[in-house]
Parts: sequence; C-alpha cells; structure tokens
Amino acid sequence: MKRLNVAEMPEACPSCGFVPVGTIYYGEIEISDRFQEEVLSGRTIIGGPCGGTNLPKWACKNCGCEFMHDEDDEACIM
Ligand SMILES: [Zn+2]
Repeated sequence: MKRLNVAEMPEACPSCGFVPVGTIYYGEIEISDRFQEEVLSGRTIIGGPCGGTNLPKWACKNCGCEFMHDEDDEACIM
C-alpha cells in the first residue's frame, strides 16, 4: 500500500485524483446512519480498533493510498 507524507489534508488524492480524501477514524466507533453515509462517500475511513502513533491520518478510498500528517521535522517524502 502506498503511503505519502503530507503537510495537510489533500483536497484530492495525489495518486489517483479521487475526491474526497477520507479522514481515518480509529478506536471504537458508533456506526450511525450519518457515519455510514460518510463511509460510503469516502469522506470517512474506518481505521481499525486501536489508534497510536505513526498511523496515517487520511486515506483514499479509491486507490487505498494513505497519507501521514507530516507535522514533525522529519524529511518530507513526496
Ligand atoms: Zn487515490
């Protein structure tokens, strides 16, 4: 799976151009109708049961590309 470092949430997927880029939610999520709609549209991505550090913050539903928030001083790999 492709992973990119980004300074902020991309408006469209830099890899395939898909809109919208989804925000990944970790942890126990209550699946409401609204949440389900957002998952279907790609605006929300379910990330898994546990959060942590070094996890992607956003992802593209279309191509599976994941985006790390580049908020550290580490080199930006684009
Ligand atoms: Zn994509």
